[in-house]
Amino acid sequence: MARRAVRPTKAEPVRPAARARASPREVLARLKAAIPEPRCELDHRTPWELLIATILSAQSTDRTVNAVTPVLFERWPTPEALAAAPPAEVERVVHRTGFFRSKTKAIQAASAKIARDFGGEVPRTMEEMLALPGVARKTANVVLGTAYGIAEGIIVDTHAMRVAQRLGLTAQRDPARIEDDLRAAFPRREWIALGHRLVLHGRYVCLARAPRCERCPLNEICSSAELPPHDTWRARARWEREVVESRGAAAAATERPKEAANAAPGARRGRAQRAQRKPMP
Ligand code: SF4
Repeated sequence: MARRAVRPTKAEPVRPAARARASPREVLARLKAAIPEPRCELDHRTPWELLIATILSAQSTDRTVNAVTPVLFERWPTPEALAAAPPAEVERVVHRTGFFRSKTKAIQAASAKIARDFGGEVPRTMEEMLALPGVARKTANVVLGTAYGIAEGIIVDTHAMRVAQRLGLTAQRDPARIEDDLRAAFPRREWIALGHRLVLHGRYVCLARAPRCERCPLNEICSSAELPPHDTWRARARWEREVVESRGAAAAATERPKEAANAAPGARRGRAQRAQRKPMP
């Protein structure tokens, strides 16, 4: 009888030691050159607005959230106002971001707790943040780091997770364990910016389905690279900087055609590695 493959649980490492670990120092140096001014791409004016936008961004895009939040904050500009709003009206406004019922519940409950227990101010500790409905470590790290400059941890969203795994910085699947590995590998003073850099690098270069390896400034130090590097790493870092600063618009204009990239020497190595790659959660 054929044996069934045993699938790892979420908490188990993914193929431990399958990928050589890139030097954290070198990763940092190259990411800093490529993304000198990392930022959060969710529009906000206050820590509370950032919190609400981050909750809404789950399973959505920052672009969609940025289209929705101006209307939301225009109608309900404070935690008190949003908490007291009719849920059906809030649902209508946030509908485009997906999971609108559960998101409405979460943003109204979090706002109510902020109004009731924290005098209308988003709290400044991880423990208090995690006590807010709809808030897990990723959201807490986004708000504490971006809005308050408090380095409690490192943002690990789906992009940061993918980049960290491909670079061999972690063999874990669970976001909390991935964050532990990253916190151990990088100095605390880098945590806030590093989180944003990993997110932006994953969003614009280390794409889930077709990573732009030939243009990636980390290519030579990445054991998951699917194509040989194009030009020097500093030239690639300049390209990534343009792409990130244009929110992706520069990529289409400067990318080599896909067919040319696939025909490049080493493409076979990439295809073989791609075939082994597991889909990301
Ligand atoms: S070389 Fe490719 S897989 Fe490695 S970090 Fe860059 S884009 Fe991602």
